[in-house]
Amino acid sequence: MHYVYRFVDEPPSDNIVEILGGKGTGLNRMTRMGVPVPPGFTITTEVSGILRREGHLSDGVRAQALEALAWVEQDQGKRFGDPAAPLLISVRSGASVSMPGMMDTILNVGLNASTVEGLAAESQNRRFAFDAYRRLIQMYGNVVIGVDQHLFEEALVQLKGQLGDPRMPDTSIPADAMQDFCGKLLELIEKESDTSFPEDCQAQLWGAIHSVFASWENPRAIRYRKMQGIPQHSGTACTVQAMVFGNLGSTSGSGVAFTRNPSNGKPGLYGEFLENAQGEDVVAGIRTPHPLTAAGAMPGRETYSLESTMPDVFERLCSELKRLETHYRDVQDVEFTVERGRVFILQTRAAKRTAQAAVRIATDLVAEGSHTPEEAISMVDAVALDQLLHARLPSEQALKGQGIVPFARGLPASPGAVTGHLVFDSSEAEKKSGEGMDVILVRRETSPEDIHGMKAARGIVTATGGMTSHAAVVARGLGKCCVAGVSSLNIDYSARQVSVSSDSGVLELDCGDVVTIDGGNGCLYLGALEVRAAAAVPEFDQVMQWADDLRRMRIRANADTPSAATTARAFGAEGIGLCRTEHMFFSAERVETVRAVVLAADDESRNQFLDALFPVQRDDFLEIFRSMDGLPVTIRLLDWPLHEFLPRTDSELSVIAKRLGEPEATVKSRAERMHEVNPMLGHRGVRVGITMPQLYKMQIRAIFEAALLASRGGHRVLPEIMLPIVSLPEELEVLRVDIDTIANEVQSGSDHRIDYKVGTMIELPRACMVAHKIAAFADFISFGTNDLTQTTFGVSRDDSAAFLPQYLEDGRGLLSVDPFSRLDVEGVGELIRLAIERARSTRPDIKLGLCGEHGGDPSSIQFCEKVGLDYVSCSPPRLPVARLAAAQAALRSQDAR
Ligand code: PEP
Ligand code: MG
Repeated sequence: MHYVYRFVDEPPSDNIVEILGGKGTGLNRMTRMGVPVPPGFTITTEVSGILRREGHLSDGVRAQALEALAWVEQDQGKRFGDPAAPLLISVRSGASVSMPGMMDTILNVGLNASTVEGLAAESQNRRFAFDAYRRLIQMYGNVVIGVDQHLFEEALVQLKGQLGDPRMPDTSIPADAMQDFCGKLLELIEKESDTSFPEDCQAQLWGAIHSVFASWENPRAIRYRKMQGIPQHSGTACTVQAMVFGNLGSTSGSGVAFTRNPSNGKPGLYGEFLENAQGEDVVAGIRTPHPLTAAGAMPGRETYSLESTMPDVFERLCSELKRLETHYRDVQDVEFTVERGRVFILQTRAAKRTAQAAVRIATDLVAEGSHTPEEAISMVDAVALDQLLHARLPSEQALKGQGIVPFARGLPASPGAVTGHLVFDSSEAEKKSGEGMDVILVRRETSPEDIHGMKAARGIVTATGGMTSHAAVVARGLGKCCVAGVSSLNIDYSARQVSVSSDSGVLELDCGDVVTIDGGNGCLYLGALEVRAAAAVPEFDQVMQWADDLRRMRIRANADTPSAATTARAFGAEGIGLCRTEHMFFSAERVETVRAVVLAADDESRNQFLDALFPVQRDDFLEIFRSMDGLPVTIRLLDWPLHEFLPRTDSELSVIAKRLGEPEATVKSRAERMHEVNPMLGHRGVRVGITMPQLYKMQIRAIFEAALLASRGGHRVLPEIMLPIVSLPEELEVLRVDIDTIANEVQSGSDHRIDYKVGTMIELPRACMVAHKIAAFADFISFGTNDLTQTTFGVSRDDSAAFLPQYLEDGRGLLSVDPFSRLDVEGVGELIRLAIERARSTRPDIKLGLCGEHGGDPSSIQFCEKVGLDYVSCSPPRLPVARLAAAQAALRSQDAR
């Protein structure tokens, strides 16, 4: 049985990564390509399982490992445990799926009291040799023997204190002091455990291998796998490799190189090099590294670049990097070490890149002829595309580096980053903004009454509410930056103040104070931070064009106003998938009229207000039809809970009573009777259409009259009327009759025919179950996954922010992601599958879409592709992300076939 593969050995042809792990596979592949890699070998993942079952390494595994080690010794001209020319090795974990930092690594194995002297003599650097020994004792002491890491760290700080400066860099500790310190660490291990650090190098080797395999089972790694859905049984491989040192003088060093610029995508080597240093010194940032190329150096400092100081090394590095990019067919991020003028590649991986770089690289690779458009667009991260399209702040990490940390955080409800003065009232927001001030509207939650303030504000923050709350949905529709559900905010409207509690105390902010908010990650910062404008990337259109050519699903927009429709079209929408008609009542005047409709005493009074609304609705529909000429427009009849339209304040009540011509007390008691405890599950959606048919009939008539007008004006109109919150097929059956009747009435006598469809949203579990019956009355179905998530989980979309964070990764880790942002495939997804199957059983050609917020999330879009939806619909700013994600999903499905 083959348990050990040297880097030069040909591994089994299939499932190599499962057997050798990601790291082992990379090293094996690079070695066999002829890339200079320090020699070594990998013990397979299979041994991980055997070790777990049997508790020890078999003689067979040991024999194969020793044989491979002998080959490393021969290659290096050194021997493991030999004081004259000691070979040092690293022992590292590496599973088939990357688990960064979750498992253990031990470096410098092979040092003891005598080999450290050999290393000192060979390197002519005692400090270096004893520092390497110290690192081994610490790592081994912690990982294998189990001594608390902090004890070693404390001892080191103590030593530095004795030497005069507890903050001195390790490199300033003199050789003698380091040697004494190694002795102290050995004593510490004996004191803290009942074993001692093994002098015998072979014992070190087996101890290290054992622990690296065992680190698969540490609680951190187990939890990480659970979160990422990585199977618990697969195990890690263990790689043993000769150590190389970049800190052996001026012809040595370490660096990081990218095959192209990861920040802007420009071709050409990019990276940094630190002379006489190990890799960790580059990362630690104690000294400033030099650029690799003279062109990348600051003017006047070109001679410090690697290209100028070590031209041979630079040339070799260039050719190896080119080879790696060609082989892996992607931009590489490479760690390398130069030991006395010899280049060693330690690791290569696909480079992380900004969205701007990703787009540029994709188009360059196609232009260079190495990639097809299909391959190139699969390499662009659709989620990151948001970076390109909106203003943003530097990353949270980068800001932290400058000492800037958020004072609170919530949900990234709508992307963008803005600075403004705090305002807690919508009318004040409108007033201040009218005076030319940039304002950020902060509310506990928002409601239809806040629309004017939301429109006027540059950004919106709420203390409660989830990713599909009123504020989140409306902000996305308006294209405004929004952070929702910042539960640490305690707003006192009367004092015009907000207090924020955190571990470091309570912060109080007043109306007018300046803050900056980041809707891309949900962070709130004090003061005005520098916001970067959305980048203009010339290659973007090309990438979008390829995506459009390659996707199967149609992409529509959720747009409610003529201007949103125009924006949607500019972002590439192929129709409107959801026009929320309640959003058309946003102005104060219109809300008041709807309020009167809702609170009218009888039909006669109600009809009077409906008549007032009718032309307003018709004109809006007309504008939308005109701007979406030739494309389908799905108009959803009113869905907001009637409760939302009830007056909240005495002054609102008095206005409405006046309009109705009734005493305030009468209207008040009527409003009280209509008050709901749970409006989200109350009198809303199609239920209003059933109980107050005139309202829906007015909307239906307005749609058909607008359609006829647009059609007469030479536009091609494709209206689709959609009913929300349907749970009974009968609801649809009844209302379909109304729709068809009004359509006939409006068209009678006209020679224009409107090509319309009638359909329903599916947003309740019962509707999924009876989808076959619903389909009998529906030309199309659109899954409303905001409500379907709410009703499947039984979690309120408005109140989830109070407890959902506790369920997520930063809390108890029960959920890997907010199900209102990314579709819960296992639960909600299963209901959708079932509904699709049942709907198609009665109506095979039924058109199927999705219009919840998940329609703009790449991973949810992949699910939609898999289950064969015809389209997804999302808010206009997310359209480019959705277009790219749909193309990538289509390509993945083709590959899977
Ligand atoms: C939904 O529920 O997914 C949906 C799109 O409708 P709304 O968000 O308006 O309830
Ligand atoms: Mg809904």
